[in-house]
Amino acid sequence: MKDTQLSKQPGFWSKMPLWQKILIGMVLGAITGSIMGPNAEVLKPLGTLFLNAIRMLIVPLVFCSLVVGITSMQDTRKMGRIGVKSIVLYLGTTAVAITIGLGLGFIFTPGAGLDMTAPVVAEAAKEAPTLVETLLNMIPTNPINSLAAGNILQIIVFALGLGIALTLSGEIAKPAIAVFESLAEAMYTLTGLVMKLAPYGVFGLMAWVAGTYGLEILLPLIKVITVVYIGCIIHVVVFYSGLISVVGRLNPLNYLKGIVSPAAVAFTTTSSAGTLPVSIKAAQEELGVSKGISSFVLPMGATINMDGTALYQGVCALFIAQAFGIELEMSDYIVIIATATLASIGTAGVPGTGIIMLSLVLTTVGLPIEGLAIIAGIDRILDMARTTVNVCGDLMVSTLVAKSENELDQEIYSALPTANQIN
Ligand code: ASP
Repeated sequence: MKDTQLSKQPGFWSKMPLWQKILIGMVLGAITGSIMGPNAEVLKPLGTLFLNAIRMLIVPLVFCSLVVGITSMQDTRKMGRIGVKSIVLYLGTTAVAITIGLGLGFIFTPGAGLDMTAPVVAEAAKEAPTLVETLLNMIPTNPINSLAAGNILQIIVFALGLGIALTLSGEIAKPAIAVFESLAEAMYTLTGLVMKLAPYGVFGLMAWVAGTYGLEILLPLIKVITVVYIGCIIHVVVFYSGLISVVGRLNPLNYLKGIVSPAAVAFTTTSSAGTLPVSIKAAQEELGVSKGISSFVLPMGATINMDGTALYQGVCALFIAQAFGIELEMSDYIVIIATATLASIGTAGVPGTGIIMLSLVLTTVGLPIEGLAIIAGIDRILDMARTTVNVCGDLMVSTLVAKSENELDQEIYSALPTANQIN
């Protein structure tokens, strides 16, 4: 996004790329929060201001850009192909994520030696939707309600239908398409303006989290936190980068550089749906994914792709089994992988839904739901890591799909000075 007159102040700060400013905001926030302790709560409104501003963008941005994306595709077979490729990649990588989570939970036994006789308060055992319910709920009975409620899956379905209908209607629909095109452009510009707040918002959120979670809360569960974080790092740095380089024949360093801003926003906001405007902007401007693909594949990913959440569920299921001294059979592992993969489709990309879906996974294999109470205390810290992976996964899939459809602008993708495309 070009620097507008809004940032006229001279000096290094205004010249610094946005992703660096966001990282600085994050580090300074962590330091400030650790120094201020619980008093850092006063900085939270800075973060809430930024969060509300990006939430404001989600519905109009996703709706307009998706309608434009569909009308620009012209070819319904191509759309179907892109949809199938994305879903296969989304579900396949989720199954790998939970397997990594289970594997690490098995090796590091984070729950071993934990005293589970302490009284526990059952928490968060809310009803999770079944797969059939999730699929049926995707069809909006009233699209205006879906837009007003911000139901992303329903908005996708309606925008797909409207986009196809506008294309099929021919000449008469041209003015309507032009309106969506100009609204989508305006929403991209507005996203750029809101993103100028990101470093300050990220600072406020980070300070609040660092100030709220003292060592006394984190220490007893440090093992489970470490295992989830290690798993998340492996999944992005090894698995995603590997797919980018082997399947996409692209330099993974460019991918890792391109995802910094959305990753930092996801980490601090713990909402992959909330990060959507930032992901769409980064996909187009940093990774070179076409508008058509990014506006279709990313909103879909923000609702159905939850690799980080699945990985976390793998670790936590084993953690709870170990803490309660329950042995799991091979068949239990398979059930956990299948349930967590399918549950990820119904997990909304908002803070804290992962723990609700964890209750579903636990019940399916008969693990005690009370285990959630221990996890609940540190869930925000785990949510930060898993949301980051969720968002990085969406960006990875959109890059691979764009590459396979010849809709990746290699010049934008390879804009890292020292690294060129492999092959
Ligand atoms: N907060 C996550 C997300 O928005 C979902 C979860 O709680 O796992 O992607």
